[in-house]
Amino acid sequence: MNKVEIAGVQVSTDHFIDNQRVSSADTFEAHSAIDESLLGHVARGTQLEVDLAVAAATAAFPAWAALGAHGRFEILERLAHIIEARVEDLAAVETMNNGSLLEASRLRVMKRGGHNIHFFAQLAKDLPEDPKNEWDTEAAKNAHNSVRYDPAGVTALITPWNAPFMLATWKVGPALAAGNTVVLKPAEWTPFTASLLADFVLEAGLPPGVFNVVQGLGFEAGAALVAHPDVKRISFTGSVPTARKIAASAAQNLTPLSFELGGKSPFIVFNDADLELAIRNAVDQYDNCGQVCLSGTRLLVEDGIYDRFFEGFKAAVSQTKQGDPREARTVVGPLVTRTHFERVQGFVDRAVEAGAKLEFGGGVSPDLGGLYFQPTLFTNVPEDAEILSKEVFGPVLTLQKFSSESELVTLANNTEYGLAAIIFTKDQNRAERISSQLGAGTVWINCFYVRDLAAPFGGARHSGIGREGGHWSFDFYCDVKNVMHRHGTFA
Ligand code: NAD
Repeated sequence: MNKVEIAGVQVSTDHFIDNQRVSSADTFEAHSAIDESLLGHVARGTQLEVDLAVAAATAAFPAWAALGAHGRFEILERLAHIIEARVEDLAAVETMNNGSLLEASRLRVMKRGGHNIHFFAQLAKDLPEDPKNEWDTEAAKNAHNSVRYDPAGVTALITPWNAPFMLATWKVGPALAAGNTVVLKPAEWTPFTASLLADFVLEAGLPPGVFNVVQGLGFEAGAALVAHPDVKRISFTGSVPTARKIAASAAQNLTPLSFELGGKSPFIVFNDADLELAIRNAVDQYDNCGQVCLSGTRLLVEDGIYDRFFEGFKAAVSQTKQGDPREARTVVGPLVTRTHFERVQGFVDRAVEAGAKLEFGGGVSPDLGGLYFQPTLFTNVPEDAEILSKEVFGPVLTLQKFSSESELVTLANNTEYGLAAIIFTKDQNRAERISSQLGAGTVWINCFYVRDLAAPFGGARHSGIGREGGHWSFDFYCDVKNVMHRHGTFA
């Protein structure tokens, strides 16, 4: 087995197919966001490895499906416990790779990985809930109406680099709990924690072929996987341009898909808001150096509170420590790679050229260098500047003023995205009125990032297709069947 040591943890750089480590003729490099050092050469999957993985997953499917939700629960619980026991290793490896904050990862994000597996394994046992036959016709009264959630088959799961382990388990959990088998293709910038997950799968005793990882590049391994005719579901989290390519490819086989895509979410502060709370949450939009799909990157503040918000926000950001993500006091870490850094810098440079006023930040931290892009804020942004509508996926916010609800709704909806919206107000009626008018899959009122696995998650407009979370995940990962039998017809 080919492996590397990252933060004291041994990590295989091979694929994981049919419970075996498999290498490739070629490799790709993966680096650390902390100092851009090379972490390892990782197996570069092609059509060959994708075919092997899909064949293994296809062969494993009937027996895994036949185990039933209760049989699968026992095995998946073991997996959840192993993840919980290895949270420290997972957090250390992920932080070295993508530069996410170690403390948050140890205390929350990696634990959520274990919980993702546990929650869906548990929920699958409670499916299905039969309809009540409330449609009062003669035929319906004389029949028993039931719903089956039958597994769909091989699922292709494709994940991004910003929260690789959490997002992988968010898909792997319901896919496996439903009785499907899995081929996971992690993002090429962050291949390592998916490889650790494969180790845990082996330790937990999942049968060969039930869970497979193919490492590789998007246009190569990813494209081969989503085009495979034996794949029955595609769940993808990533960018809109990639989603378009996957949708075009999936169209050939009419493979059902679930998309969780980018965002350009509004962060709205009304005159009556708790100002301190709003400012504290606004600073959180720089979390993970802005590499969070849900970030409220467009600060929209009502005119009566605008000046006080602006001064308070500037002061709070100046107190925010940027630095090594392994240090507990750090609040903002680095961007993920040099390529991504240049993309973010390009957005900032074009915003300046378009006439936006740079209030602070705008480039690399002079003290830290490397990929440590400073928290950045623009005001006076021209209405048609791309910085108001395109996702930067970095620590770059804009601040705009509004003076009426109708102006606010127009500004807030002025983007192709619709992932989330964040509202600060003490007026419940207004909060509900505005929520109903925003294109968004999630609306947070006087809070941010509060998540419940039982709730639906997804994006409106170009931020996604479909919903996952709670039973919505099973609506996607299963073939939902209606079965009716006429009373008194069985022997
Ligand atoms: P990306 O679209 O570049 O890549 C995502 C994944 O798709 C990677 O694994 C990549 O290898 C793969 N891929 C690339 N081309 C492919 C192809 N032709 N066929 C199949 N797979 C292919 O996105 P990224 O840069 O890794 O992630 C950042 C994006 O993800 C942002 O837009 C962010 O908002 C979004 N995101 C969304 C959510 C959400 O829940 N809505 C969560 C996290 C990130």
